[in-house]
Amino acid sequence: MSETLRIACIRGDGIGPEIVDTAIRVLEKTGEKFGLKMEFIQVRMGGASIDANGAPLTDETIEICKGSDAVLMGSIGGNTSTSPWYQLPPEKRPEAGLLKLRKSLNLFANLRPAYLYPELSDACPLKKEVADKGFDLLIMRELTGGLYFGERKTITENGERKAIDTLTYSESEIRRIAIKGFEIAKKRRKKVTSVDKANVLDSSRLWRSVVEEVAKDYPDVTLEHMLVDNCAMQLVKDPSQFDVVLTENMFGDILSDEASMVTGSIGMLSSASLNDTKFGLYEPSHGSAPDIAGQNIANPIATILSAAMMLRYSFDQDEAAQAIEDAVSGVLQDGYRTVDIYTEGMKKVGCSEMGDAIIERI
Ligand code: NAD
Repeated sequence: MSETLRIACIRGDGIGPEIVDTAIRVLEKTGEKFGLKMEFIQVRMGGASIDANGAPLTDETIEICKGSDAVLMGSIGGNTSTSPWYQLPPEKRPEAGLLKLRKSLNLFANLRPAYLYPELSDACPLKKEVADKGFDLLIMRELTGGLYFGERKTITENGERKAIDTLTYSESEIRRIAIKGFEIAKKRRKKVTSVDKANVLDSSRLWRSVVEEVAKDYPDVTLEHMLVDNCAMQLVKDPSQFDVVLTENMFGDILSDEASMVTGSIGMLSSASLNDTKFGLYEPSHGSAPDIAGQNIANPIATILSAAMMLRYSFDQDEAAQAIEDAVSGVLQDGYRTVDIYTEGMKKVGCSEMGDAIIERI
């Protein structure tokens, strides 16, 4: 990694520019405080790239991202009913750029934390006694294998249509995501729950056996196995039992949305996608919210927390990451709320004011 941390920034569409600019200001303040030199390189992807370059992703953007130490991204895409971007063929639409970028950067591990801030527990849809316990978990989802990438076809057999999807996982695909899961658990509460369907699926039995092999290299991390149907229930019954939930692509797709929902606040949820080096792409879990774009009312916290993840996982700057996370907790404790998390009696602020309040506390 270079001495100056090179961060490619994709501001994206809708609220993307507002939330990314705010996150960059937070990073600049954090850099000053912790003596980190950062360079931000602006590149386009998604709708903004279609407008400027006629394509959702250019080779130049890919090369700049590859030459960087990490990528910080706002969301991309527009209103799917009204935006002219959605009159284009699927491979020219904004989302095609994101899929191609993830593939080009070999991002196989997706991390989605779900944390319930005590100040926002009223937004949690779970029973009060469950919400009151709080939770802080992270779904680690395999992103480039499994059912979504297996061979598929629809055939006609005995006069009726039949569809076939194939779920494959190789040992090496499982091993590399399991290593990521254990490495990240080491930075957290040192527990991995590996989720599979080993009572039915061969791919899950292989998953379980490879995860057990990897676990031997991490004696300080506790490993437990859980069947996916049970995990879906446990996430609403007692999410506080989880630290890192390690799982394959389709199970992770479903469980990560479930885990997001139980926090009740989409504007707060960060995410990261990593490859087998320290490189990662960091972005909020939410979309580009075209309905509120350009009004300075978007919640920038998901993007700011994604920037904190970048400091922790790509740059090993745990203290700087913690400073951002503490500042976010601080503003919530002091009653600052953007409109999406506002409740009576709190201080309503816009996107940039929320950024200012966080910066003041770093
Ligand atoms: P969305 O997440 O953009 O919005 C859903 C609702 O949540 C909206 O009411 C919106 O105003 C609100 N919201 C979302 N983020 C917020 C924030 N930070 N602060 C305050 N309110 C917020 O989902 P959508 O409307 O289904 O999708 C809009 C566009 O985003 C679509 O083009 C979709 O394809 C795209 N999208 C992109 C990504 C990505 O870039 N990774 C992910 C999901 C959706």
